[in-house]
Amino acid sequence: MRGTVQTVVGPILPEQLGVTHMHEHLIADCSFSGNDARKKFDDVDVAIQEMKYFKQAGGDTIVELTCRGLGQEPLALRRIAQESGVNVIAATGFYREVVYPEYVKRETIGQLTQRMIDDAQQGLEGTDVRPGIIAELATEADTEKVSPLEEKVFRAAGRAHLVTALPISTHCWAGHHAFEQVRLLTDEGVPPDKIVIGHLGVQHGLEDINRRLADLGVNLGIDAIGYDELGDFQDKDRAALVKRLIDLGYLRQITISQDMMRRYHLKHEGGHGYGYLLEKFVPMLLEVGVTEKQVQVLLMDNPRRILTPKSNEPKRDDQGRSG
Ligand SMILES: [Zn+2]
Repeated sequence: MRGTVQTVVGPILPEQLGVTHMHEHLIADCSFSGNDARKKFDDVDVAIQEMKYFKQAGGDTIVELTCRGLGQEPLALRRIAQESGVNVIAATGFYREVVYPEYVKRETIGQLTQRMIDDAQQGLEGTDVRPGIIAELATEADTEKVSPLEEKVFRAAGRAHLVTALPISTHCWAGHHAFEQVRLLTDEGVPPDKIVIGHLGVQHGLEDINRRLADLGVNLGIDAIGYDELGDFQDKDRAALVKRLIDLGYLRQITISQDMMRRYHLKHEGGHGYGYLLEKFVPMLLEVGVTEKQVQVLLMDNPRRILTPKSNEPKRDDQGRSG
């Protein structure tokens, strides 16, 4: 339905989205990556409880980017949404090439496109749970070029967007291959403002690439909030990056999220939970001079604009870029 946003329990009005995390995982198996058993969320009851905490912290909506290759369970997502009261938006799409289903090799772009269109129109994995986004399309961070199979998947996703109007979100570690990702999608006709390039706030020295990407009109995924233990790029640095990008005029193109994918981050296991962004990171943003109003743009206005199919979007004011 145009004009509404598809959640796992059905379509909702854009104004019902509220405070939205644009890049998270609730049920996912990413343990293949680094052979790390901690990268696995497989307990629906735990996820329901985690979502109740998220709601208590002020959260309303989770965009859940688990897709083919990451152990997607559409009916589990529906139960989590129903029992927690949090809106959950599911994804159709493909993750990294190492976990592509075998058919990606032999099928044409058109056939892969049709798979995503079928998901959007009928439901994921033989259920009637429909996706609200195409994600988490990945390219590798350690390759010289985007691979032929990755290109096929990106082009198929772009074509699926033209039919479904679903926005597209990517995995693009530290911006590696970012311009190629944008090129492939826009070459297929995807408007840049319907694209979120993910993982752009994960290390030092990424201001320039964020700026250049924003100038192309795409949205910046500043995710991995809450992963201070993984390196020397800390949440205070992420907050400073967000502030800097706002000062440069890119407020309307920034999305912030946690990309939860470690068991030890769950409250159930003593971690900070999905409420961390609202409880701990927003105060850091305010501390560096981001205003309450700007926080609202990051967490509410931008997700609503990106997630709402274009035909129903209110006219954008051209002042939108000013912070
Ligand atoms: Zn992710």
